[in-house]
Amino acid sequence: MIRQALQQCARVVQRTPLLHASRPLSQSFPSQTQTIQPTRQIRSFRSTFWKKRRYHYIELQRMSAFEALIHNARPRHFVIIGLGASGLYFYNTDEVEATHRRRFNCVSNARELEIGMESYREILSTERGKILPRNHQLTKMVDGVLQRLLPGMDMDASDWSVHVIRDDSNANAFVLPGGKVFVYTGILPICKDEDGLAAVLGHEISHVVAHHTAERMSNSLITLSATIIVSSLFDVSGQLSSFLMNMLYNLPNSRTQEAEADYMGLMLMAKACFNPEAAVHLWARMHEEERHSPPQFMSTHPTSYNRMESIQGWLEKANGIYEENGCKEISGYMPGFRTAFNSSVSHMRR
Ligand SMILES: [Zn+2]
Repeated sequence: MIRQALQQCARVVQRTPLLHASRPLSQSFPSQTQTIQPTRQIRSFRSTFWKKRRYHYIELQRMSAFEALIHNARPRHFVIIGLGASGLYFYNTDEVEATHRRRFNCVSNARELEIGMESYREILSTERGKILPRNHQLTKMVDGVLQRLLPGMDMDASDWSVHVIRDDSNANAFVLPGGKVFVYTGILPICKDEDGLAAVLGHEISHVVAHHTAERMSNSLITLSATIIVSSLFDVSGQLSSFLMNMLYNLPNSRTQEAEADYMGLMLMAKACFNPEAAVHLWARMHEEERHSPPQFMSTHPTSYNRMESIQGWLEKANGIYEENGCKEISGYMPGFRTAFNSSVSHMRR
């Protein structure tokens, strides 16, 4: 939203019509050889002053306010701007509790929740008619997995709710800030069982817990500012600098968030007594599904193969949590739940 607001602001500034002088500029100012009568000097000075101011105003209008600032800046201004920007950056950094990663985040939790609610209303409207009722077997099953995961994050479960959308062609699931969970039926066969579903939900819940939406919005602000600075200083098109910023800053950040959600989700599912190894199998099945996806450096997500490898590296820790919580002893009743999951998914696919 901040980016949209800034873009809107920039567009409004750029759309302002230019105040062209009615005559060519050279004719607007008195010639240096022209004799000016003493009695007319003051009037002439005023006229020249306002014409110059007006010319400067026209030039400024050709650029956005921020571009004008950069354009007119001197070296000492860059030092001041740099110090100010660094101060602002560090003042707005916080830490993701689960991984101790420091990041820039200037969006409040309240604003992030608002965004979540706006998206929630939009999705309810676009997916109307496809959302399964609350008492549907699949909704109850997904909700069962969610309720087992939530205590692992010490979160208030009252605002969390599950929406299963009947769409077999869409292998997707996501959780909005505030805890509205959406699962498309197309992802259930890939999940295969409740452990696989827990891997997916654990990952999506972790995005919410780590406030990744707020972080993405904050990063957009940095990208926008850097894009304007780069295109002003080096006289390159906004599109080129935007592409470079996306490749060098946004995509790596996005992949960092994905890896972080994978890690947090894995620990979360282990705490809730879901078999952590199911996450490796899930990404192996995803790998099969995404044969035609773009290479990793062009994508916001790590490839499923890379995710699988990373998760394998974290398995020892996750298995330790699984055993510490006495999950091996209580896993005896799981097969019944697994059978119920599979029969429900099969029923939906018919
Ligand atoms: Zn993700």
